[in-house]
Amino acid sequence: MAVEQFANRFVCDLVAYEPGKPIDETARELGLQPQDIIKLASNENPLGPSPLAKEAMIKALDDAHIYPDGGGYRLRTAIAQKFGFERENVILGNGSNEIIELLCHCFLNRDAELIAAEHAFVVYQLMATLFGARYVKVADPGFVHDLEAMANAITPQTRLVFVANPNNPTGTMVDQAALDRFMDRLPEHVIAVFDEAYYEFLDEAPDTLKYVREGRNVCVLRTCSKIHGLAALRVGYGLAPAHVAKILQKARQPFNVNAVAQAGALAALTDDSHMQKTKAVNDEGLAFYHQAFRERGLEFVPSVANFVLVKVGDGDDLFRKMLQRGIILRAMSSYKLPEWVRISVGTMEQNRRCIEVMDEVMGR
Ligand SMILES: *Cc1c(COP(=O)(O)O)cnc(C)c1O
Repeated sequence: MAVEQFANRFVCDLVAYEPGKPIDETARELGLQPQDIIKLASNENPLGPSPLAKEAMIKALDDAHIYPDGGGYRLRTAIAQKFGFERENVILGNGSNEIIELLCHCFLNRDAELIAAEHAFVVYQLMATLFGARYVKVADPGFVHDLEAMANAITPQTRLVFVANPNNPTGTMVDQAALDRFMDRLPEHVIAVFDEAYYEFLDEAPDTLKYVREGRNVCVLRTCSKIHGLAALRVGYGLAPAHVAKILQKARQPFNVNAVAQAGALAALTDDSHMQKTKAVNDEGLAFYHQAFRERGLEFVPSVANFVLVKVGDGDDLFRKMLQRGIILRAMSSYKLPEWVRISVGTMEQNRRCIEVMDEVMGR
């Protein structure tokens, strides 16, 4: 008997998440040296990890034989203080991706609905599928979340609405007025999740923490993977009213965030210098890509995050050709955008090289 006949059918239906292609794998396949490969595929920090975090993590290794603080006392306290909350408002995750899963554990079942935008971060759909819930996709004209339409899509079965702000892979955001109007319409049986993985890159960031303060049914997700440069450590956090955070805490593994990651995150949150440098490099890089695409007449989605979506014709083909030349981009066919690729902003040297190779490959 095939295992699929008796395995959970929701798991069988799942199409596994396809991450950015790793540097080592690319090096092996192409016979290149890893240091000659430029990865602009996973919105990572091109400046590397926060140096303060690195130092703290090296120290933390001395206690690697001790189980981590499962309650995350120090890190949760620091996050709470940073944003003006209590520790009970903070939940830690093995990446903010884990908190997305915890939200689904807590609020989804087979009759439930999860609402997200058509081109939203794909993990929401994967999780809805895994939990056997209905995934309700709402059109996002111009690649911008239509919060009014998303509010209109809420039914008595809706439990979660995900708003990625800014969204990945589109790089667009919704503003405060749209968020306020949306929150005015949010019924009590629905949790609004604001996934703010790129929040620190914004010039004019909307305030969703006020909904947490007001005790609304919301969860705001942030991560150490992007601006802090700790993607490999897997640490993210959620800010939510105590009544929401409490139920999320029940669903997690006892030691879901490892001690080295907790130590790194604790230091990274205080590393304003690394954050500022990262934002400056990103601002310059974003402007560079926008200008380069304009000059080449390539359609793109103006981005406020650390990546840009650009229309290149055959995205898979460009991905392969760039890969051959040691540049890893992200093809977008899994987002049903086969004509587009997503390029993460790198250092200016990497950005220039990327455009140079694109020119070569696209015959310019
Ligand atoms: C990168 C990203 C995350 C962060 O994931 P981690 O698990 O914290 O590494 C979350 N949401 C979106 C939309 C992202 O693009």
